Amino acid sequence: MTRRPARREHPRQTAAAEPAAEDSWFDAPDPTGRTRTGERGLRFECTSCGACCSGPPGYTGFTPDEGRAIARHLGIGEDEFIARYTKATSSGPSLAEKISAFGFDCVFLDRQRVPGKALCSIYEVRPEQCRTWPFWRSVLKSERTWDRAASGCPGMNRGPLHQPSFVRLTRDRVDI
Ligand code: SF4
Ligand code: SF4
Repeated sequence: MTRRPARREHPRQTAAAEPAAEDSWFDAPDPTGRTRTGERGLRFECTSCGACCSGPPGYTGFTPDEGRAIARHLGIGEDEFIARYTKATSSGPSLAEKISAFGFDCVFLDRQRVPGKALCSIYEVRPEQCRTWPFWRSVLKSERTWDRAASGCPGMNRGPLHQPSFVRLTRDRVDI
C-alpha cells in the first residue's frame, strides 16, 4: 500500500515556482548520502506499517471523482459514502478516522487482514494524496524536509530506486 501512502498530517502547501530540472536536490548523485553508490533519484518501498495513515488527527483529501470512485468500489451511493466515511474540515472534505490503539486511523485502514500489517482497504481507488506519497512537493522541498519525513516513514530511503524524472512527475500530480 502506500498510504501513505499518504500523510495526512502534512498541511497542504502552496506550489513554489518550478525550479529547473537540474536544480532539484534529488538529481544529485546519491542525494541522501547513504548508499555511496552515486545513484540519482530516491528510494522508496512501503512497508505497510500504517504510520502515515494513523497518528494524530489528519486530513486525507479526495476529489469529487475520487469520492465517486470509492463509493462505487464500496457498492454504495455517494450520499452514503459522504455520510459514513468522510468528515468536513477547514481544508475541505476528508476521509474520516476511527480511534485505534495507534491513534486516529483512516477509516479505510485495515489492521486485521494481514497480521502485523496495516493495509489500505480501498487500495485500488485510494486518493491521489495517498498514491503520491512520499513524493509531495512539501516533502521534496529540500533534503532536510525529505529526511524529516523519512524519520516517520520506514519505507523511505529503501527499496527500489525512483528516477528523478519519475519523482518530479509524481510530485506534480498533486499540490501538497
Ligand atoms: S485511503 Fe488508504 S492509503 Fe489513504 S489514508 Fe486511508 S488507509 Fe491510508
Ligand atoms: S512505510 Fe511509510 S508509506 Fe508505508 S505505511 Fe509506513 S509510513 Fe506509510
